[in-house]
Amino acid sequence: MNAIDYQDLADDAVSGLHPMVPMPQSGKIQPRPTYGRRYILAKNGLFLEVKAPAGYFRLHLGDLEHNMPFGECDQQISFNFIVADDACRALIKDFMEHALNALPNEAAAWIIWNLDTKQMHLQMLEPTTASPSHITFVRPKLAHNECLAIDIHSHGTLPAFFSLTDEADDIGEVKLCMVIGNLDKEPTMAARLCVLDLKIDADFSFAEATK
Ligand SMILES: [Zn+2]
Repeated sequence: MNAIDYQDLADDAVSGLHPMVPMPQSGKIQPRPTYGRRYILAKNGLFLEVKAPAGYFRLHLGDLEHNMPFGECDQQISFNFIVADDACRALIKDFMEHALNALPNEAAAWIIWNLDTKQMHLQMLEPTTASPSHITFVRPKLAHNECLAIDIHSHGTLPAFFSLTDEADDIGEVKLCMVIGNLDKEPTMAARLCVLDLKIDADFSFAEATK
């Protein structure tokens, strides 16, 4: 009996989780049918395609020096929920009330998307520790038809920005992240899209998110 080649098994597992396809010359490709990731090799570079409960994303990872004999790919960022509608703004305003009550400490919440009802709701996160410069919490358990849509936390009276802790916390998830700061004066907001280990700044002001 042949010995099991564990390296082959590991390589097969990695290839299965990270398939790569060439972009057709037409420039049109069917999105992957199931949740997960896929790499697309195109004339204009390498792209990461991610289909997740929160949305569908096709992101340019980088150019290739060699002119590949494939079609061109385009970037796509498509959430399954609407960030700028009245319902979402109302939830962000609700969070603001909780964050003001939590001062001087930070506060954190998830805005959760229900895939069946197409509704979002706010879940405040019970802190295990909190101070004016940090917060830790137990991650909520989501129902099978729910996903994290917006991960939102406050920085109390400090400015809104993504700290080194935030950088580490956001790796590996697909979500929109928001930080609200300067709660004692004119609030500020930082926002970005996180797709696995990629982060893309989002151009939201606090006024736009809560008007
Ligand atoms: Zn933070």
